[in-house]
Amino acid sequence: MGDVFELADELGPARVVHLHEPTVGLKAILVVDNVAAGPAIGGVRMAPDVSLSECARLARAMTLKNAMAGLSHGGGKSVIFADPKRPEAEKQILIRAFAHAIRTEDRYIPGPDMGTNERCMAWVHDEIGRAVGLPPELGGIPLDQLGATGWGLAHAIGAALPFCKLTLKGARVVVQGFGSVGRHVARFLVAEGAVIVAVSDSRGGISHPGGLDLDRLAELKSAGRSVTEYPGGTALSADDIVGVPCDIWIPAARPDVVSERNVDRLQARLVAQGANIPFTSGAERDLHRRGVLVIPDFVANAGGVICAAMEYHGATRSAAFAAIEEMLRENTREVLQQSLDEGVSPRDAAAAIAVQRVRRAMDNRRWGGAG
Ligand code: NAD
Repeated sequence: MGDVFELADELGPARVVHLHEPTVGLKAILVVDNVAAGPAIGGVRMAPDVSLSECARLARAMTLKNAMAGLSHGGGKSVIFADPKRPEAEKQILIRAFAHAIRTEDRYIPGPDMGTNERCMAWVHDEIGRAVGLPPELGGIPLDQLGATGWGLAHAIGAALPFCKLTLKGARVVVQGFGSVGRHVARFLVAEGAVIVAVSDSRGGISHPGGLDLDRLAELKSAGRSVTEYPGGTALSADDIVGVPCDIWIPAARPDVVSERNVDRLQARLVAQGANIPFTSGAERDLHRRGVLVIPDFVANAGGVICAAMEYHGATRSAAFAAIEEMLRENTREVLQQSLDEGVSPRDAAAAIAVQRVRRAMDNRRWGGAG
């Protein structure tokens, strides 16, 4: 039995399913990691090159994120092996075949992820009657348009400020990645008096110590242009943004953007991780040693999944945003306090809290189990 259980530990995964529908060329995998707290919520990724172990790691990350956020949901993830840039009609066939193939996996609630969107979730919902991240006409809350994750991130930052003796009024903020997460967190922080001194996108960055005008930046992005075309300010390379002096540095782009290679250039008191795994563990250890506070990804960027879970339970937008605010503030405080009390990094403190919550949920089950 060896290989099949290579991924298994005391929390999961509860189910690993290979899905194959040769008539339409569907090849997919589903990992339901742990459902002790309730049915797993996790994205459907469409990509040609994701391994089973990567899918399992992403599913575990969802278990911990959902537990940390206090949701009555476990974690899962699925991958459809295909190029997401295929024509819409072909995409629809694959997504519908995938949905049909998981119709009996009723402890998994699919959501959008890289290569899928709310339209895809509408097709899944049409096939099997369950999905999150739906379009508004099906009761969905447009979380990227409203900035649910940025809203949560701004509140995580608000709760972290006393731990690093900062206030938002006049705080200098750098945002790497000016997409759904980055542009909204910038907007919420500026509304509280912060100053955005640098932003970047995939083409490079722009900085101005006196502050950048978010409306001008948004105009550029909605015209399909880059933030580097902002009039005034100093142009930066994509990597230069790491070294811009600031109080709060927010990664909201890609994984591993700060590593042992460039971490010594980072000059901030607080880092709030909007992106998933934006820093290597070595870089995080270095920052912890230097006394830079890092709110880890699965605590700081949970706004999106909280919104998705609230949508699933029929909540309104305003109820979802109120829940995000409350949960992110409470969780950030708990994690940072435990990190201080026990002298461990915020990530280690957060992981311990999340695993303890999953274990407690497991204790309530007849078999004490993950599945
Ligand atoms: P997005 O595609 O809307 O925006 C990403 C932005 O990053 C774009 O502006 C892009 O140009 C920029 N970018 C790409 N490569 C870059 C680079 N090397 N340097 C600087 N900028 C770069 O994506 P998003 O939804 O905002 O997600 C951003 C990150 O946050 C991802 O890691 C995602 O997994 C994570 N995340 C998103 C949500 C959500 O609700 N959207 C929730 C949790 C986590």
